[in-house]
Amino acid sequence: MARYTGPSCKLCRREGEKLYLKGDRCTNKCTLERRSNAPGQHGAARKKIEEYGMQLREKQKARRYYGVLESQFEKYYEMAEKKEGMTGENLLILLERRLDNVIYRMGMAESRKEARQLVLHGHFTLNGKKVNIPSLLVKVGDVIAVKESRRDGAKLKALAEAMGDRVKPKWLDADAQNTTCKIVAMPMREDIDFPFNERLIVELYSK
Ligand code: SF4
Repeated sequence: MARYTGPSCKLCRREGEKLYLKGDRCTNKCTLERRSNAPGQHGAARKKIEEYGMQLREKQKARRYYGVLESQFEKYYEMAEKKEGMTGENLLILLERRLDNVIYRMGMAESRKEARQLVLHGHFTLNGKKVNIPSLLVKVGDVIAVKESRRDGAKLKALAEAMGDRVKPKWLDADAQNTTCKIVAMPMREDIDFPFNERLIVELYSK
């Protein structure tokens, strides 16, 4: 599937906000602190953002934060609408349940982008079976583990060692020693620590 392969920092500059797309590597030397203007020829020109622009930017921010394509994002929105409760919250919770996000959250990847690559390359199992679909939505009771045969790989070994230090959300029960993680609850809105304004996204799709 087509995917954005350009520089991550360019997306943050476009949104004018740190999206932490390089995960743990975002702590030092953030590009946005040196170049805060949007990319492109007219990026430095200051524009007044109208209501529609704000709604659009909020949607793009969420889409880029979780690394999903436009069409995928629309599907998540349709699913969110059909669920009980607030559509905006349902949308963010669905995105949070993606397997690549969970692997990043459990500390087995430095960023969501890296988590997606690791899943695509078949490094993980879900409930004991090999899995290579980053968009898969986890549910309560699921157990994610590093595939036995991949545990000795240098990269995964280093990540597993660092796994214990990562602050994990309470809906995940991660076991750094065995490089496994159990989903013990569904994520709640308050578990998503990025300051999204999902109301703007709902307004955009309600037009
Ligand atoms: Fe965004 Fe991280 Fe790049 Fe800063 S370093 S611009 S937060 S991807």
